[in-house]
Amino acid sequence: MSEQKTYEMLWDCKFCGAKKNLGKTHRHCPNCGAAQDPSWRYYPSDEEKVAVEDHQFVGADVICPACSTPNSAAANNCMQCGAPLASGQRAKTLEAQIKAEGQVFQVDDLQARLRQQNDAAVGQAPQAQQAKTGSIPWLPVVIGVIALLISGGVIFALTYTRSTNVYVTGHEWSREIRVEQYMSVADSAWCDSMPADAYSVSRTREQRGSEQVPDGQDCRTQRTDNGDGTFREQQVCETRYRSEPVYDDMCRYNVDRWVYSRSVTADGVSVNDRIEWPDTNISRACSSLGCEREEERGETYTLQLRGSGDTAYECPVEFDVWQATGIEDAFTLSVGITGDPRCDSLTRAG
Ligand SMILES: [Zn+2]
Ligand SMILES: [Zn+2]
Repeated sequence: MSEQKTYEMLWDCKFCGAKKNLGKTHRHCPNCGAAQDPSWRYYPSDEEKVAVEDHQFVGADVICPACSTPNSAAANNCMQCGAPLASGQRAKTLEAQIKAEGQVFQVDDLQARLRQQNDAAVGQAPQAQQAKTGSIPWLPVVIGVIALLISGGVIFALTYTRSTNVYVTGHEWSREIRVEQYMSVADSAWCDSMPADAYSVSRTREQRGSEQVPDGQDCRTQRTDNGDGTFREQQVCETRYRSEPVYDDMCRYNVDRWVYSRSVTADGVSVNDRIEWPDTNISRACSSLGCEREEERGETYTLQLRGSGDTAYECPVEFDVWQATGIEDAFTLSVGITGDPRCDSLTRAG
């Protein structure tokens, strides 16, 4: 924001055709004496604008309800006919104009604007009617209904299950030990967050981010219609920014770490098996490069099942249940819409 200046609007006399009368100075036509019509006001070009010194802005003009003369908003009675102004309407103001730096304001084309307003007034009635009958929002309704059907279908598919009778056809067990190896691993990080035990370090300069740096100003000039025969002009400036890359040191290095290398498994198909952990052949604890160690252990016990129509299912169960279940034992099982077993519903039949 900076200082603002006030200038006269121009107006044309619609009775005698006198052009470029001054909005504030000429409340009546200097040629024929007719009252100014505020709707015939327009912005002048930059060349023709006339400054108003020490302008006291009191608001948009009030139009005399008796004789249509525009009066200062501060007046109580019409300066032309003396009628009280309390019920008078305010003068309509024009849209603000904006120009970028280096551009010039041209004079408004008043005749073109009046023609446009006239056309709009003539075309308004049938247009409004059409908008009313033709604007049933059927498309959003259809989309909404389809979305409801789809989400309803999805919820149904996710929750629908049927209960079926199954019997046990077999057992399976498996145990797994994950093995890790102590290895030299290549990695990279910003040097300020590199691990302390990194070695074989090489540094490069790389872009880590960017920052916004002020880079001059974008200014434009705005004209605003005061509605009292004048307009104010002011410059509005905004700081412009450009993006600057920010560089930092990137480190490439090696570190020695335990890394997953293999899994050792044991499995079987009988409750009578001797269930043991598999042998990883790791002989001793060590922590030099190439050494191995045992990590996570996991075990699963699975029942093989058969339902109506010879459909086969598999369900993991607790070891105790697995061990206590015999071939041909009967259960009930919930099955989803795609035939997927819901194993947490597996229940021994009555
Ligand atoms: Zn005139
Ligand atoms: Zn009057």
